[in-house]
Amino acid sequence: MSNLKVSLGDKELNLSQTMEGNVEIIPIEISITVEEKSFLHIGAAPSPLTEKKGSVFKVDRTPVIPATSFKGALRNQMELLFIEKTNDFKTIFNPSNDDLIKPCIPSSRPTEAEKELLSMGYRGKMERNKYTGHCEIQSDENKVIIGILGICPVCYFMGATGIMGFLRFSNYYPDERDWLVDQTNIRIDRKTNTAAQRAKVDGEQVKPNTKFTGTIEVINKTPQGFEFGQSRKIGNTTIDTWVEKWNEQDNNKRKKTLIEEIIFPAIKNIKLLGGQKSRGAGKVKVEVTNSQGQG
Ligand SMILES: [Zn+2]
Repeated sequence: MSNLKVSLGDKELNLSQTMEGNVEIIPIEISITVEEKSFLHIGAAPSPLTEKKGSVFKVDRTPVIPATSFKGALRNQMELLFIEKTNDFKTIFNPSNDDLIKPCIPSSRPTEAEKELLSMGYRGKMERNKYTGHCEIQSDENKVIIGILGICPVCYFMGATGIMGFLRFSNYYPDERDWLVDQTNIRIDRKTNTAAQRAKVDGEQVKPNTKFTGTIEVINKTPQGFEFGQSRKIGNTTIDTWVEKWNEQDNNKRKKTLIEEIIFPAIKNIKLLGGQKSRGAGKVKVEVTNSQGQG
């Protein structure tokens, strides 16, 4: 299988297209570095009972940035990108209706803060306290039920209820053992001269300059015949109407455009991860680290 050549700023990258089981994937290697004057707050592991998501938690005493945390941050950046670059994307993708390239808010019951975003350029509206714009597919015995706009561009990458996205995410682990948890915020119990129990949990931090690495996998081709860059069809129903009228015929050029114009900029725009932002936590630099192409 040949490599896919893409540009990242002034660099040319060679992305490999490889098989993983019966799925063809394009791995994008990612590093997340904690900024100089910041830190990452380490919270509890997510629990099914509380649904409290730690943005960073520990596995075997090693801090981990969970896939869900990075995925959430990337989703946010993709939504913003589609809102800010609507005109550019209209020119590229040539949609039959401008609403097709608007992102959705991925919930039928958005929060108050999310409702305020609706006027910024998201699709759909509130109707009798319910949001009608979110992406969802229901498959009946012999038919597929989907909203008239089809799946939005952000859910094309990230997935929605009833349909997978074209991106898969790994957890992020620190390189070697340079992660160094800083406990300077631990309150010392003056009587016993030991760290007070409760304060210890709140005070754990990953130090600046710690580098985490992981992977985003672009699903290139699936056994059922879905291909990255193309609109999917289930039965006679077109799912991804936002790319249906795209004039580009070359599959590799379509992939290159989606990676260069959407995936790479959204990755680069992630500047914050996780909690305690008001204390200056969570400032990160996210980079694509695939090896450069020759010539
Ligand atoms: Zn959507």
